[in-house]
Amino acid sequence: MDETEGEGAAPQGLEAVFRRLIGATGPISVAHYMAEANAHYYNRADPLGTTGDFITAPEISQMFGEMIGLWLADQWQQVGKPALCHFVEFGPGRGTLAADALRAMEQFDFRPKVHLIEGSSALRMAQKLSVPGATWHDGLDSVPREGPLLIVANEFLDALPVRQIVRTEKGWRERVVVHNGERFLPVAGARPMDTAVPAELADSPEGTILESSPAAAGMAYEIAARLKAQGGAALFIDYGYAEPRTGSTLQAVRAHQKVDPFADPGLADLTALVDFPQLQRIALAGDVDCHGPVGQGDWLMALGIAQRAAMLAKGQPGRAQEIMTALDRLVSPEQMGTLFKVLAYRGPGWPVGAGFAGAS
Ligand code: SAH
Repeated sequence: MDETEGEGAAPQGLEAVFRRLIGATGPISVAHYMAEANAHYYNRADPLGTTGDFITAPEISQMFGEMIGLWLADQWQQVGKPALCHFVEFGPGRGTLAADALRAMEQFDFRPKVHLIEGSSALRMAQKLSVPGATWHDGLDSVPREGPLLIVANEFLDALPVRQIVRTEKGWRERVVVHNGERFLPVAGARPMDTAVPAELADSPEGTILESSPAAAGMAYEIAARLKAQGGAALFIDYGYAEPRTGSTLQAVRAHQKVDPFADPGLADLTALVDFPQLQRIALAGDVDCHGPVGQGDWLMALGIAQRAAMLAKGQPGRAQEIMTALDRLVSPEQMGTLFKVLAYRGPGWPVGAGFAGAS
């Protein structure tokens, strides 16, 4: 790309690419639209933080990454501190979670090898500054196959494309994106999709939308297979649902405001709620144990985040208020405490992690 084009050029380019593609070959699927829009979005610049489009738990407070580091160090200790161990993070954003978690692990003399799986070159640059010793990957495939994997994915699965199927009067159709001369909009496609719908949902009322993420499922299958083969554990933390549901959950956020997901592709962060029941089914199919989902608030409290907050506040009385506000954002049910959920996979012989007591 021509560097002199500047920031606004890529999304305009994407809009033109989509219009040309739709004109030449017909409507594109919602999944295709979301995948391309997010690839452009994350590559454009760092979208995180108060000056960006959205803020995530590790950017709210160092305590979030620290609790994850403690959880992982505890796992490692319980299996007898294997010498070769890999910390693997999917979609590490600015690298803040990894930096905070690795610092917490070091307190236990735990220094795993660090692998970051990141699609955006802009964010890889930011990660190089915060996690200098890491190795970068495009996917799990190039991550070593020897030594247990301790995997973290925070607000990663929600960025992966979803496929949508809609019930019309003529049966089930894939939901696709067209351009009406003024704007992009989702409509029911022409091709029948009836065979893709589970029998118990086949007779849903007209207008019902079924959403799924083949990309997230593929990733989860791959993670389960690797944990089964080489041991370790995975933590998935995301905004999502614990019971099966219907309806579109696709949303777009720009400058901390919800916007139309089909306006200005590549300029807003597109996400969909994570389907936790799907992650549970994949664990079962992949023969790894699965715990949760539990609410992020309960999980962090069980790990001792309130004590950590009190300690930090005592050490920096001038920041006490700010620390307590951050704690509240992470754990209170009105904020991130229950909408965000935590689910863990564990390989054979690995312990049920802290914070999942009582969870299935
Ligand atoms: N985990 C970070 C960032 C969340 S934003 C945090 O909590 O702050 C989503 C992250 O996933 C970004 O780093 C984005 O570039 C990355 N990402 C999104 N889709 C991806 C894909 N298909 N492959 C690799 N990384 C992806």
